[in-house]
Amino acid sequence: MTSAQSSPLQILQKTYGYTKFRGQQEEIIAHVIGGKNAFILMPTAAGKSLCYQIPALCRAGVGIIVSPLIALMQDQVDALRQLGIKAAAINSSMSPNHIRETEAKIRNGEIDMVYVAPERLLMEDFLDLLDGSKLALFAIDEAHCVSQWGHDFRPHYAQLSLLATRYPDIPRLALTATADAPTRKNIVNCLQLADGQTFIAGFDRPNIHYSIVIKDNAKQQILRFIKDNHAHDSGIVYCLSRAATEEMAEWLCEQGFKALPYHAGLSAEIRSRNQERFLREDKIIMVATIAFGMGIDKPDVRFVAHMTIPKNIEAYYQETGRAGRDGLPANALMVYGMGDAAMQRNFIESSTAPDNQKRIEHQKLNALLGLCEAAGCRRQIILDYFGDTGTPCGNCDTCLAPPETFDGTVAAQKALSCVYRTDQRFGVGYLIDVLLGKDDERIRQFQHDKTSTFGIGADTGKPEWQSIFRQLVAKNLLMVDIEGHGGLSLTPQGQAFLKEKKTILLRKYTGKIKLRRGASSGAAEDFEGDPSLLTALKTTRLTLAKAQNVPPYVIFHDKTLREMATARPETLAALARLHGMGEKKMERYGKIFLDAIAQHGAAAGG
Ligand code: ADP
Ligand code: ZN
Repeated sequence: MTSAQSSPLQILQKTYGYTKFRGQQEEIIAHVIGGKNAFILMPTAAGKSLCYQIPALCRAGVGIIVSPLIALMQDQVDALRQLGIKAAAINSSMSPNHIRETEAKIRNGEIDMVYVAPERLLMEDFLDLLDGSKLALFAIDEAHCVSQWGHDFRPHYAQLSLLATRYPDIPRLALTATADAPTRKNIVNCLQLADGQTFIAGFDRPNIHYSIVIKDNAKQQILRFIKDNHAHDSGIVYCLSRAATEEMAEWLCEQGFKALPYHAGLSAEIRSRNQERFLREDKIIMVATIAFGMGIDKPDVRFVAHMTIPKNIEAYYQETGRAGRDGLPANALMVYGMGDAAMQRNFIESSTAPDNQKRIEHQKLNALLGLCEAAGCRRQIILDYFGDTGTPCGNCDTCLAPPETFDGTVAAQKALSCVYRTDQRFGVGYLIDVLLGKDDERIRQFQHDKTSTFGIGADTGKPEWQSIFRQLVAKNLLMVDIEGHGGLSLTPQGQAFLKEKKTILLRKYTGKIKLRRGASSGAAEDFEGDPSLLTALKTTRLTLAKAQNVPPYVIFHDKTLREMATARPETLAALARLHGMGEKKMERYGKIFLDAIAQHGAAAGG
């Protein structure tokens, strides 16, 4: 490349086709070009990749990018090649011949960037190659894999500590989107980054709309949501079990969608085929367990739906974070019910983790239930959980339709004493029957029609009581038993609440929460261009992508096509001004898309 003479800004504009740097990009890039180390903690889609790609282009030598997933490397390389960058990957899926050729190119300084897994990098042969080559930098992507505390620990990542001793003069960057305080410390120690600088950006993903609704019929609720908002989009539906995954995928297909299952019980071959289709075709819905998602950087995932609650807020944020990487509006919907909480408790209890770990996981689950039952802004609660502060966002269900609250002190007292008087072992259904004073065989049998709480809740309806119980669990006054039978008992906070006669504000029950048709979709609402032209452009893109066997977004992101369908450029100069129109892409595709726009105009104009 001629990049040796180009400034970072020129590369951003000419090669990538973007107008200006985002956030701390410019600062980080200058820092690394200056030969210094850096630790970068930024949310998904913030634009971390440019922080090592541009320095790798500006500094002499090859940039070594350590990345955990071989399966996704080729797509990353393809995307860079489309920009005219000399990128390569070396991994076990390649032929020895191909590897030898690539290695020769690295030695001769003919490669700008090479992607490798840590296992490869640590091989003596590969280290020899590095010893004999000019190196621009080391970028360690998904750096949380270094840490035992992180959620994806990889022992080979920890051995990357040798980079600091073997190549002390080559800058090292560690990048991740998820690392709490102990994980951060591990990364900085292991990779010896203490002398470098830490760059941390806020956690917010403003383009994702969050909504959490009470489970009524999860399948139907999710179907409605997809039909109303995402009938032509790619998305992910998370399920708890393998069986649920397959059943939901099949059912969505019967409803006319292209849905594929993904879980750890499928053969590696089927999994990789389904993943590939998700990445390469339009409008695929991946119905998956949490086994799916790590490292997936498909930019145009428009929605993530949860059929049941996830494990905790971190998991929820990571899973929903897979939506809207391209910065365009995206939706996260969670459908939750009380049974889900019992099931998650059961998982925690039946694991082999030590007791203190289990206690922490129960607390994390409580925080998630608090989020589900919140009357305030969802985003504020999430960001607060990560130590970030913010104001009500205006882009979540509770901000857009604030739930009414009421003084729930008396209701809570009644519910809690009912739990207490019936010996803290019955589920919600039974407790509500007692509160309502129902004539019931079982109640008589246990003589609960003789307790002081029998019938004291007859002034309130059953769904209202269900909502109250859910909130008391979410507020940690009641606890669902860990055997998973759904029996409720008082927590220490619940006992204190009764004893100290505290007051409490609860969310008013308002019946089924309606999903807002269209308006919540975000995906289509802010697009002012010609939808039929957009469809035509997507078809052109898909044809080009198929011919080269690359994912469509590697050719152009949706954002670029939307700008085309809105601005309808008639000249190459006008086209070149659009987002993502780098020089190489103009050269390769400029004319093709200009023709497609003109043709569509002629056809539409009659
Ligand atoms: P991350 O690695 O932080 O998850 P990426 O590096 O993949 O995020 O960037 C997310 C998206 O934003 C990509 O499509 C990328 O090309 C785009 N992007 C990054 N920096 C800029 C910028 N300065 N201007 C416009 N788009 C950008
Ligand atoms: Zn909000």
